[in-house]
Amino acid sequence: MDLFELLHKDDLSKEEIIFLLNLSTKEDISYLYTRADEVRQICCGDEVHLRGIIEISNYCDQDCFYCGLRESNFNLPRYRMTPEEVIATAKTITNLGIFTIVLQSGEDHVFDTDLIAYIIYSIKQETPAAITLSLGERGFDEYRTWKIAGADRYLLKHETANPKLYGVYHNKQKLSDRITHLKFLKTIGYQIGSGNMVGLPMQTVEDIADDILLCKQLDLDMAAFGPFIPSPNTPYQNKKSGTVELTLKTMAVARLVLQNVHIPATTALATLDVDGRIKGLNSGANIVMPDFTPSPYREQYQIYPDRRCMTDEPQNCRSCLQLQIESIGRRISTSRGDSLKLTPKEIINWSFK
Ligand code: SAM
Ligand code: SF4
Repeated sequence: MDLFELLHKDDLSKEEIIFLLNLSTKEDISYLYTRADEVRQICCGDEVHLRGIIEISNYCDQDCFYCGLRESNFNLPRYRMTPEEVIATAKTITNLGIFTIVLQSGEDHVFDTDLIAYIIYSIKQETPAAITLSLGERGFDEYRTWKIAGADRYLLKHETANPKLYGVYHNKQKLSDRITHLKFLKTIGYQIGSGNMVGLPMQTVEDIADDILLCKQLDLDMAAFGPFIPSPNTPYQNKKSGTVELTLKTMAVARLVLQNVHIPATTALATLDVDGRIKGLNSGANIVMPDFTPSPYREQYQIYPDRRCMTDEPQNCRSCLQLQIESIGRRISTSRGDSLKLTPKEIINWSFK
């Protein structure tokens, strides 16, 4: 089968995915990106959805080997935003015309069931935004309570679909549990997001193919593929970063395989390459997730060093993204950007919840 046929094939096998991830000539890689962009256009249109992130706490009970927020990193100054600060930031985000708020943190149980429910409920009362939670693995009763309080989506990356590697990176957690959590979240009505890091220590291209196939099996609404960036004061501080090229190839192949899912051009990609967001949007992505965490907290959310756009003010950030997005003939969406898998009737019901 030639490359043209492969790029237009409906159901790519693991071997075919590996073949595409291994493309090496400039011409073939550019052909892959162009086809992914075409499929993105057909499945998602030209709108780019913005998701405004608020990093509500950098405390974490987990010890993931790759992450600067890990519990054992005693060099990191820790913070928690107050509920009032979180709610005020959410209002700032929606006033900029951004209608998804992502509440993200380490696994921090001081933000308990009731406190998170209060924040969700308050944001829902005061803004028309959809709410995505990205709070790590929490209790099944908590997921239920937060859904009732108004949360719409949950982002929980599987990080790697290789159970052995998962066990190496996470001495306290299992891949099978993470998958069970994702399935449970979907069952109780969340739109779910997951994904991997590209270039993790010991990861192979075969593992990345499995990551893409796991995203398909989970029937995700959003799939995120970002490069691993080594973080100081972690066991992997001296490892190499993932590459921009392999990350873009992963996003492009994922677009061919997953089709009608949201795929972000991640901040990690923009951190490794000043044009990373644009390159991502041209290789299958349709989402950008700008960070609106207020200072001084933002600087302390050090998952990895030198994150892109650390000092941008909210209005400048919005204008800068608009310029970038319009420069490639795309436009910022004014909708909540719900799952591409919902029927029009379901979208109306979600919007009025
Ligand atoms: N604690 C929650 C969780 O783990 O799902 C949410 C916050 S966590 C910091 C968000 C994401 O950051 C993780 O899913 C992981 O993919 C990413 N991340 C962590 N360390 C990273 C690193 N060194 N390079 C790139 N991404 C990283
Ligand atoms: Fe904590 Fe999430 Fe970082 Fe793991 S990836 S250490 S759970 S913040």
